[in-house]
Amino acid sequence: MSFKLPELPYSYDALEPYIDTRTMEIHHTKHHAAYVNNLNNLIAGTDKEALSIEQILAEVSKYPVGVRNNGGGFYNHNLFWSFMSPNGGGKPSGDLMKAIEVEFGSFEVFKEKFSIAATTRFGSGWAWLLKSEGKLVVTSTPNQDNPLMDIADVKGTPILALDVWEHAYYLNYQNRRPDYINAFWSVVNWAEAEKRYRG
Ligand code: MN
Repeated sequence: MSFKLPELPYSYDALEPYIDTRTMEIHHTKHHAAYVNNLNNLIAGTDKEALSIEQILAEVSKYPVGVRNNGGGFYNHNLFWSFMSPNGGGKPSGDLMKAIEVEFGSFEVFKEKFSIAATTRFGSGWAWLLKSEGKLVVTSTPNQDNPLMDIADVKGTPILALDVWEHAYYLNYQNRRPDYINAFWSVVNWAEAEKRYRG
């Protein structure tokens, strides 16, 4: 078995003007593709070939660091594409909205907390909304680490994720990461986050 680069659930220009076409194209066909290829090269022909990506990440400390970087990169981008939509933006509803209000006080406070986590992650990494031990938690990880990994400080189920590597925004936003984070809120696929929250 080898891991496959998934198709985007929308066209490269679908998230304009918030995420530009060229960034989406390079991000998917170059960056995400490279994580998949590197991961396959590291796993192929080993006794780990039959494992799911989730199984690999859960014991990633036992693997070479390349599996942590590329396995994380593969998994994180699979999630990331699904968390955006040309019909996105607005607010969550249902149980997820209720849980956000219980945990953070309001949707606006949650948004602020998530944006701060994304802004203050130094260098490359990810911001996360997680379900962790039954509670919602905002956190961030360095590089391609994620909350499924046994080495993660905070473990849990991803409900929302934002890539804050420069490759995710530099062509359009240059050094203005906060503008990119602000644009992300206009394309967030809350239906996908709600689905993941329901489990
Ligand atoms: Mn990326």
